[in-house]
Amino acid sequence: MSFVAAFNELSLESFLARANGASTGDVTRALGRERLSLGDFADLLSPEAGAHLDEMAARSQALTRQRFGKVIRLFAPLYLSNECINNCKYCGFSRDNPILRVTLSVDEVVREARALKAQGFRNVLVVAGEHPKFVSTSYLADCTRALHAEMPSVSLEVGPMETEEYRPTVAAGAEGLVVYQETYDRAVYAEMHTAGPKRNFDWRLETAERAYAAGFRRLGIGALFGLSDWRSEALSVAAHAEHLLRHCWKAQVTISLPRLRPSAGQFEPLTTLGDRELVQLVCALRLFLPDVGLVLSTREPARLRDGLIPLGITLISAGSHTEPGGYTGAGKENIHRTERGRIVELAAGASEWAESAGHATNATGQFEIADERSAGEMAQLIQRLGYEPVWKDWDAALAGKG
Ligand code: SF4
Repeated sequence: MSFVAAFNELSLESFLARANGASTGDVTRALGRERLSLGDFADLLSPEAGAHLDEMAARSQALTRQRFGKVIRLFAPLYLSNECINNCKYCGFSRDNPILRVTLSVDEVVREARALKAQGFRNVLVVAGEHPKFVSTSYLADCTRALHAEMPSVSLEVGPMETEEYRPTVAAGAEGLVVYQETYDRAVYAEMHTAGPKRNFDWRLETAERAYAAGFRRLGIGALFGLSDWRSEALSVAAHAEHLLRHCWKAQVTISLPRLRPSAGQFEPLTTLGDRELVQLVCALRLFLPDVGLVLSTREPARLRDGLIPLGITLISAGSHTEPGGYTGAGKENIHRTERGRIVELAAGASEWAESAGHATNATGQFEIADERSAGEMAQLIQRLGYEPVWKDWDAALAGKG
């Protein structure tokens, strides 16, 4: 059964009622279990469970150390292109935003990768907007092949594809595929995605399973917190991860916990996931899904990241840029400005416009970063917290590829 079918059968309403109204007894019972059910997880998301946060945090920390050791893996996003044919109301890359756009050449991508390598990274997440003309399957395969020669671990976060379209990138060395559903609330999803193929909710929801069929062995999912009720999103993403663990059992599964950040387009979040609730969510996820990797990005401020690292996080990004060419300035010559999806100015003119509008002359980023510490600073911090920063992927390191 695909997750779309399972999701349609999931009685989200009744789990949400538990997540909103669990009693102290419910929370204590859930905390006493060896293996938690989705219902127990719902109890741990409740306002009542917030009063048990110290106990949840202690258990989450112990379980994470038992399953993952005292290590935190580091990765960096590498943006290939900010061209996109979709309109997502919350994203700076949306087709209709009049931003500076560029798609890096394969050589420029390698330049970016070498800059990251010099910082210590051996694990990159390749990110691109969805645009079949600029970000074709063959371009992605070429970039992956060139990157894999530099980096032992390459994952992709790109527009969803058919299983067959994924295969060339897997053959070229990509091992992970990340796709956020953004929101699991169908009504909000329809409201947020106003144009482009991303409007198809079910097609996106089945992406991880298609990627697994194509041979990816790391699957990353997530919801973008700030679009719909956080407890409902948390229940859905947890159910999704549980489904993938059962049906895509050869893959490692990770959950990312992005909260909306300011971006071009000035979208305001529709809902709030507070800092304390984010901590509660990390701990509840760890207790429900002990073997799932939990990912934290530079969207979050430094102090919160420092506090969350020992509680259940296994993978963090550092020193990130969310614009193509952000690490080296690569691609500047080809930057162009778009208006409502059409190119209106080429390189030189676009640069002037950018300067007069107060932009850097690099292409525009997807969203603003909150934690601007360098990779080296993050590695030192991780060590100070008593953990080992790991730059390369486990499996690749064990196989001697790194
Ligand atoms: S979220 Fe992704 S698909 Fe939507 S506009 Fe941004 S880059 Fe394009």
